[in-house]
Order: sequence, then C-alpha cells, then structure tokens
Amino acid sequence: MGMCLDLEGCGFANREKARFCAHCGIPLEGIFLQGRYEVQELALKERKTVTLRALDRHQGQSVLVRALIPQSATEGEREEFLQDAELAASLSERVEDPGSVRVLDYGQDGPLVFLIKAEQRGGAEIASRSTLNWPGMPRLVAKSSRWISMATMMPP
Ligand SMILES: [Zn+2]
Repeated sequence: MGMCLDLEGCGFANREKARFCAHCGIPLEGIFLQGRYEVQELALKERKTVTLRALDRHQGQSVLVRALIPQSATEGEREEFLQDAELAASLSERVEDPGSVRVLDYGQDGPLVFLIKAEQRGGAEIASRSTLNWPGMPRLVAKSSRWISMATMMPP
C-alpha cells in the first residue's frame, strides 16, 4: 500500500492506511472494495476510467474492476455510470454466449463507482479502446455505443 497505482499519471505517495489515492482517488494496491475485491494492479487507464485487476475473494477468481476516476468524474457521471452498470449487469445475466464478457457486479465504495467484469483471456479488453472519446460523436450514439461496449465488451 501507499504509492498510487497510476505511477505515470499520478504517482502520489499516500499514507500507509489510505484506501484510495488522496490525489486522484483510485483505489490502492491491496485494499478490498466492498470487502470483497482485492485490488492488485492497474491494467488500463483511459481519460475518465481505470481498469484494475483484482481478486474476488468470494469466488477465488481474477476479475477486472472498471471504475470512474473519482477526481475527474462529476456527480452526474457517477449516477450515469451506475445506471449503465446496472443495465449491463442485468443484461449479462441473460447472455449465455461464453465469448462475451459478463458484468458480474457493480457498486460504490468510498469515492469510487465501479463494475466488476470477468477477466477475459488474451487481454482483448485491455487491448481494445473505448469508442467513447471519438470527437464529435453525437451524445445519443456515444451513449448507446458505450452501453453496448459495456454490455458486450467487444473490441470496436
Ligand atoms: Zn493517484
């Protein structure tokens, strides 16, 4: 614990007992989100989100935590993120395709809103880029494509 997992973008040295980086707000290595997901490392950082590798202590499996970076998220974005996560999670319950990535859980812990995805072999999700940040994309399209990418996790 201590050093921010985002070494390049933040690198803030936190005090020993901190759970979240005091500078950017992302969780620190070794903390448990909701007492369940043990944060291990930063897998991907995007403009407004981070993806972290974590261990689900209940299931004993590796998962990916996708979260809004607290420092750069507004209250409205947090609410929207949770609504999208809820939708993606309920959709995932009905998806039987083993190739699609499932949203297993979502929630909030301290400053962080996050969703939990099953880890995909080969790092396809890590290699893929969000379509969210295309300049000039109409909001409706951006919203639906984000919804789809969250729900299916298909590379664009
Ligand atoms: Zn930080």
